[in-house]
Amino acid sequence: MDCLFCKIVAGQIPARKLYEDEQVFAFHDIGPRAPVHFLVIPKRHISTLLHLTEADNALTGHMLFTAQRLAKEQGCEEGFRVVMNCNELGGQTVQHIHMHVLGQRQMTWPPG
Ligand code: 5GP
Ligand code: ZN
Repeated sequence: MDCLFCKIVAGQIPARKLYEDEQVFAFHDIGPRAPVHFLVIPKRHISTLLHLTEADNALTGHMLFTAQRLAKEQGCEEGFRVVMNCNELGGQTVQHIHMHVLGQRQMTWPPG
């Protein structure tokens, strides 16, 4: 499959890995938008949030739990942001779902 993040999971493209288990993979973003910026992705290819089904509820819950656990490990107890972009209008550029976790700077709302 010609998917950048599937290739990172398979080890075909290098990434700075933070964590992996049977279901998820977490790695530092190559273009960080904050002092801490990592991505949590499912190992299984799911192209957008619109492709989730109820059968994925446990998987997405595990992604979120992993995001907060790693955020704490990265020193973000004081606060952090989790973002998921969907499709071009939502700002998604890689067609394999991912949670952005951003921390160690003041976040503003609303985002741009
Ligand atoms: P999106 O815009 O789809 O929500 O986020 C995609 C993210 O993937 C961007 O923040 C971008 O910097 C990151 N990214 C794109 N290519 C690579 C790569 O090859 N390695 C890593 N580690 N991150 C990448
Ligand atoms: Zn993929």
